[in-house]
Amino acid sequence: MRTPIIAGNWKLHMNPKQTTEFVAAVKDKLPEASKVEALICAPAVDLESLAQAAKGSELRVGAENAYFEDEGAFTGETSPKVLKEMGMNYCIIGHSERRGYFHETDEDINKKAKALFANDITPIICCGESLETREANKQEDWVVSQIKAALAGLSADQVSNLVIAYEPIWAIGTGKTASSDQAEEMCKTIRDTVKDLYNEETAENVRIQYGGSVNPGNVKELMAKPDIDGGLVGGASLKPDSFLELVNYQD
Ligand code: PGA
Repeated sequence: MRTPIIAGNWKLHMNPKQTTEFVAAVKDKLPEASKVEALICAPAVDLESLAQAAKGSELRVGAENAYFEDEGAFTGETSPKVLKEMGMNYCIIGHSERRGYFHETDEDINKKAKALFANDITPIICCGESLETREANKQEDWVVSQIKAALAGLSADQVSNLVIAYEPIWAIGTGKTASSDQAEEMCKTIRDTVKDLYNEETAENVRIQYGGSVNPGNVKELMAKPDIDGGLVGGASLKPDSFLELVNYQD
């Protein structure tokens, strides 16, 4: 009953022209969005091109970050209100690169989630532990605490519509995927945490992605796990062929 969602996270790659070409190459070969949602999250400077190119297709579009204010004296930031006006359906928040390089806190991420919901954009909230934390076997406590902080003050209805992406930092861009069992274990822990914080129905509704070196060769095994509802994909989402293989993993 949860619609799978495979999302490309382009990070700081692609320009508007490449974006238009990419969408033209994939748009007629996507699964029906009611069966599998195929989503591209692109850099802010590409979003206008992305939205235009994707119009009328099954492709869902999203941003990689947003600020928690709609407007004001916040030089360099991106308005969630304007993202909505541009047609964005989703926005990634709390990616480990944002937490690490740009010092985003759990509190920022919680404010961003609220601002996105206020603008009717679905947040994709990222969480995940470092290698050091996993080696110390503290990954569950770490991720549960990230989730609790990110969800503070959100309603059950909002959380039902949310996407959470579990991305162990040691698996991002390293070619080292978490095993499907490790990924499932943490996605289940996240679902159990939502159940503890809200209720069974909310936990059944929330979609949880795994991210970290997902590729056409491992997507099926990951997606076969009961608590993994999608993938957040960096490197393997940058080429049309590979993106199409990922989103059509059911074929
Ligand atoms: P990767 O990146 O697929 O290149 O490992 C995933 C991500 O950071 O979202």
